[in-house]
Amino acid sequence: MTSCVTFIDIPQFIKPNKLDENYFYTLFTCLFCCFLAPFIVFWFVKELYLLAIIEAFLLIFLCCNLRRISINKSEILPRSVVLISIGCQLLLLTYYAGSSASLWSYPLLATYFFILPIRHANYVAIALVLPMSYILTFSSDSIFVLRYVSSIIATVIIANLIITINKNLQKELLRQSISDPLTHCYNRRHLDTTLEQTTHLYQRTQDAVSILLIDIDHFKQINDQLGHLVGDDILRQMVKTIQEHRRASDMLFRYGGEEFILLLPEANHKHAMLIAEKTRKFISDIQLPTKHQGLTVSIGVSEFTPSMSADDWIKQADVALYKAKNSGRNKVCSIEMN
Ligand code: GH3
Ligand code: MG
Ligand code: MG
Repeated sequence: MTSCVTFIDIPQFIKPNKLDENYFYTLFTCLFCCFLAPFIVFWFVKELYLLAIIEAFLLIFLCCNLRRISINKSEILPRSVVLISIGCQLLLLTYYAGSSASLWSYPLLATYFFILPIRHANYVAIALVLPMSYILTFSSDSIFVLRYVSSIIATVIIANLIITINKNLQKELLRQSISDPLTHCYNRRHLDTTLEQTTHLYQRTQDAVSILLIDIDHFKQINDQLGHLVGDDILRQMVKTIQEHRRASDMLFRYGGEEFILLLPEANHKHAMLIAEKTRKFISDIQLPTKHQGLTVSIGVSEFTPSMSADDWIKQADVALYKAKNSGRNKVCSIEMN
């Protein structure tokens, strides 16, 4: 059985700066370490040795973790565990210092929702708020505890809403940045990224991979005779037809104008030629509005070889396409391989 080639759909250019969860987590941990250090001394002076020792251990652990992050090594413990231990620190502080310390729950909750996946953030928030409410009963009246719990619930609901809306916007932005607005297949920008990734992947897997460069025949005439809107509609229909018949792992890109590239993972030259011929036939079933004939395309086929760059690969498919056009169009061609 051949291994399954996976393509990363999210291009690197989506993250234009370093202000992501990792950056925020590192910043938060640094700030927390600065905040924690004077407290250790304070608890020693107050002769609360157990608390001072727990916090000293927490500080050492966080510093080690920061060091590992700075040298790009895996973190010692999962982030949720680190954030829970910081929450425990806040519980201890509230127990010893009184209800005013519980106000730190709000920035801590915001951090949970920013850094952790939303479901984990909700669990960790509950793990903080339940014992905190109990501890508050020692130092505060029931009205204060009730206010604390209800304001925390409101904060958690708002955080969930904001994160969900933000995630949906991010998804939509990603989708738009990699898709062609007219036909909704992948765009040229995503093609460049994907072909680069594919050529790198090939160095590791050596799995055969091919492309089809598909170009509509005499599309200018179709536009001239039927109008651009009909031309647009034909482009959409063609993409729909290819998408319906492609294999799940194949990816369709708009290369430009009326030219498309179908990337065929795990397809050698022979296999790609068969797929190209089938694709050409499926497309010929699309009827043009005025003519009594189907839409015709010419297809250039190229299998990737290790000596090629992504550009060479497309160039070879282009030469094959040129050959198909010159030999009468409505054809599938490839460059002879020696
Ligand atoms: P050939 O068989 O040699 O490929 O001829 P052709 O007419 O298809 O090729 P040519 O490059 O001369 O023309 C391509 C046409 O595609 C010209 C351009 O107006 C049209 N086109 C490019 N993008 C779009 C689009 O988004 N919508 C429509 N309707 N037409 C487009
Ligand atoms: Mg054309
Ligand atoms: Mg063309």
